[in-house]
Amino acid sequence: VAISQREVELKLLDGRTAVISGAASPRGIGLATARLFARHGARVAILDLDETAARAAAAGIGEAHLGIGCDVTDQAACDRAAGAVLAAFGKIDILINNAGITQPLKFGEIGPDDWQRVIDVNLKGIFCLSRSIVPHMRKRRSGAIACMSSVSAQRGGGVFGGPHYTAAKAGVLGLAKAMARELGPDGIRVNCVTPGLIDTDITQGKLSDEMKQKIIEGIPLGRLGSAEDVAGIYLFLASDLSAYVTGAVIDVNGGMLIH
Ligand code: NAD
Repeated sequence: VAISQREVELKLLDGRTAVISGAASPRGIGLATARLFARHGARVAILDLDETAARAAAAGIGEAHLGIGCDVTDQAACDRAAGAVLAAFGKIDILINNAGITQPLKFGEIGPDDWQRVIDVNLKGIFCLSRSIVPHMRKRRSGAIACMSSVSAQRGGGVFGGPHYTAAKAGVLGLAKAMARELGPDGIRVNCVTPGLIDTDITQGKLSDEMKQKIIEGIPLGRLGSAEDVAGIYLFLASDLSAYVTGAVIDVNGGMLIH
């Protein structure tokens, strides 16, 4: 309790505005991040596939926030969402490219459509939404962008994601680092998070209790991650605490992979 009270007093994002993609899922990393950012004084726009769910999620964290239906693979939808956020908030300080999907398929099971959709949501979606917001950040010469990768990208495979997911998340690392180089001179920081196994809906039903137990035995901190564990790292990357951090990749994996 003492720590959370101190956090609230700190208000690391006071007066800031943030766009978070893939943040309507009730147990997801995106919504935990939206909640934490709101507690730290930010106004948050939640973007997700379903407009009603996005609005309900935003209303659930408070009145000042916005919920917008947006498929991040659709450039026109991203442009519309960015316009709606700017109309409501007047500026965008923070972009959290969090939306993602996975499929527990093996290499031989992946069809062309599976490949395309998984690459599109996890990788192209970051390009599209960033493309809609970066020009605004460039004009203001200020911005913090964080992108969702995965431990899968670092170890050549995940626990539940197929090779197409691994490829997409590895692509995110390259895209974010390239953006960090190009956008740094414009005052925009771009970083990545690489979570290990986080207990959210994306992992639900994809792992047996026995598999979970085996995975936990390989994690030095002895548990799966929570959505809040990742939200804390997004908060660091969004706030001035990370003012001199760009092009970085931050592991949130309980020690599952130690380089
Ligand atoms: P989740 O399924 O709860 O959240 C993903 C969200 O993205 C959902 O709300 C979903 O509706 C949304 N989404 C899917 N496609 C979209 C699209 N085209 N446009 C907009 N929104 C879309 O799962 P989560 O675990 O919170 O996942 C969040 C991110 O974390 C994902 O990118 C995932 O790949 C990544 N990740 C998760 C884990 C884990 O173990 N849970 C590990 C590493 C990385």
